[in-house]
Amino acid sequence: TTHLVWLRNDLRITDNKALHAACSDPQAQVVALFIATPQQWRQHEMAPRQAAFIYANLLPLQSQLAQRGIPLVVHQCDDFADSVRWLTDYCRTTGVDALFYNRQYELNERRRDRQVETALADTLTCHAFDDALLLPPGSVQTGKGEMYQVYTPFRKAFLQRLYSADVRSLPAPAVRASGAISPPAPPVPFVDPDAAWDAAAFPPGEEHALRRLRTFCLEQVQDYRQQRDFPALDATSGLSPYLAIGVLSPRQCVNRLRLTCPDLLEQPDGGAFTWLNELVWREFYRHLLVAYPALCRHRPFIGWTEAVRWNPDAGALQAWQQGRTGYPIVDAAMRQLNNTGWMHNRLRMIVASFLVKDLLIDWRAGERYFMRQLLDGDFAANNGGWQWAASTGTDAAPYFRIFNPTTQGERFDPQGAFIRKWLPELADVPDNELHHPHRWAEKQGIALAYPPPIVDHRQARLTTLAAFEAAKRGG
Ligand code: FAD
Repeated sequence: TTHLVWLRNDLRITDNKALHAACSDPQAQVVALFIATPQQWRQHEMAPRQAAFIYANLLPLQSQLAQRGIPLVVHQCDDFADSVRWLTDYCRTTGVDALFYNRQYELNERRRDRQVETALADTLTCHAFDDALLLPPGSVQTGKGEMYQVYTPFRKAFLQRLYSADVRSLPAPAVRASGAISPPAPPVPFVDPDAAWDAAAFPPGEEHALRRLRTFCLEQVQDYRQQRDFPALDATSGLSPYLAIGVLSPRQCVNRLRLTCPDLLEQPDGGAFTWLNELVWREFYRHLLVAYPALCRHRPFIGWTEAVRWNPDAGALQAWQQGRTGYPIVDAAMRQLNNTGWMHNRLRMIVASFLVKDLLIDWRAGERYFMRQLLDGDFAANNGGWQWAASTGTDAAPYFRIFNPTTQGERFDPQGAFIRKWLPELADVPDNELHHPHRWAEKQGIALAYPPPIVDHRQARLTTLAAFEAAKRGG
């Protein structure tokens, strides 16, 4: 018998439910498959650097599978429709008896999987697993059997369930009885050769991800609560790119965290609990997506926000994208994103708020731009983060709560260490003036090679409040 494991967002050998199940019959011949769909990825705004990261992670995966006697076939199709046709054909012609895969929860992905299951219903058995989340969507509900719309009660119910659920990590499969195979030639690249990410910060491979997780839980997590909001510190795990494409599983994160901090639930003010809380946000947004499929179509959760009259200013959008708004914390953050593919969470909140509340630009333009740049691009987390910042989502900040980009900078980058790293044109500005460099330059009679603020925050705030109020009134 031949078992085919179709890998998608689960590029790892340890704690992979589909792979584990496919290997449970010692007699079966196990083959792994990855299908690249560059055209579909472009439609989904996937960052070219995330595609490059996927490719880079397939190489160590391929050799780890080979050591266990499992070949990894990598094939390229245009889009999901094409992949359904090709996979159906492949299974029929190579005589696959059973197909194993871990579920994805976005609309197009689910449609694709239904099509595959239907097309192959007469040919083989399909085994699908809930693997990408700690608890499957739909399993954490209110007393009325509905999805929570507010985070805190969701978390409470979630943690109760989590602690009675079996979330043990599964081991990597053993070497097949037939023995190891020689590593196949690297797959034909499906990536843009110019797509660069910060490979020193995010080296590919499961081993790196596991090592980072271990070090973070041992050495850093206790300070996470105090330090996580300061982008100049290396105080967060940096695991998001690995979690986004499944080089690491959330079960591995939770199990490692519990091992190093067994009493984390008793210390809700501790770093470990705070970190667990972030992993629960990840679950919350994914559960929401399944409960409210309209989110996958970029609809706002709060309907009346559809009526906000956004500012169509393409120049302002471009200034934001390029880090030329004249607000140093915003610009430094955007340059970090453009250069590395990653941005600190505090900064994501600041720049998202700036785009929506200071420039009054439709949050969907920001959501799209983030996806095109992020190494950790994840539809649910990104959409959830944008709708939170734009005050259009569940559990969103109310629309009248608007970040002041200057005071946010002063608070979270007090010495300007982060800003200095990304804005060399401000090198001569003293620390205590970094958040309003033009004020300083004027006093000194110096011309800065840095743009003046693109908007006046106080004025912009009033304009935005008026636009949201008008939309809420229905006109
Ligand atoms: P840590 O602080 O170490 O957190 C651990 C893990 O928890 C993260 O790796 C991530 O998987 C998860 N997590 C943390 N915060 C959140 C959150 N607010 N929502 C959901 N999951 C979270 N995260 C993504 O993974 N992909 C995205 O595309 C994405 N887009 C975002 C867009 C906006 C506007 C905002 C405000 C946030 C977004 N986030 C996104 C969430 C968060 O900013 C990143 O997960 C985090 O910065 C990643 O760094 P880390 O791995 O060091 O996080």
